[in-house]
Amino acid sequence: MVGILALQGGFEAHAKIVRSLGATPREVRVPADLEGLDALIIPGGESTVMTLGIEREGLAEPLRALVRAGTPVLGTCAGLIMLDRDHLDVLDISARRNAFGRQLKSFEADVDVAGVDGGPVHAVFIRAPWVSRHGPEVEVLGSVDDRPVAIRQGNVIAVSFHPELAGEKRLHELLLAMDRAAA
Ligand code: GLN
Repeated sequence: MVGILALQGGFEAHAKIVRSLGATPREVRVPADLEGLDALIIPGGESTVMTLGIEREGLAEPLRALVRAGTPVLGTCAGLIMLDRDHLDVLDISARRNAFGRQLKSFEADVDVAGVDGGPVHAVFIRAPWVSRHGPEVEVLGSVDDRPVAIRQGNVIAVSFHPELAGEKRLHELLLAMDRAAA
């Protein structure tokens, strides 16, 4: 069972990819939805709105506990922001919001991501953050113009972009493979 935080933002496209890979998605809205998950996805959206939803539903501490327990997690775009030091504080990174510029600076790029085989990842950036600072436990998996846009720290992978909007499934495959490795 793969949880997808569904308070706000682009959770449906992730559910579709999870299903296409033969796994079962579960929309997560309240702490009880986190029980028994094999993996979790935090989608893109608006990090300010998502923060309010997490507070309203009392999800911050249960989400931190899930990461601490070693559950594989994938955060995309606003999902990366939610995982940084200023938000859920589970990754030793700082995210700079709207770093590439606002709406006009949305763009697509092919990004080489370490650990993802089969050529560069087709990535859609929408008012995307980049990682402005990261600690020693953080591995940079991919960059655009020398700005980290894909990182991993232990069981958590976070990317600045939207793989799910480009029909890109390999990061989800990686998440599910981490899941199996942990099981
Ligand atoms: N700019 C948004 C934020 O700061 C993120 C955009 C996205 O998730 N596509 O939360």
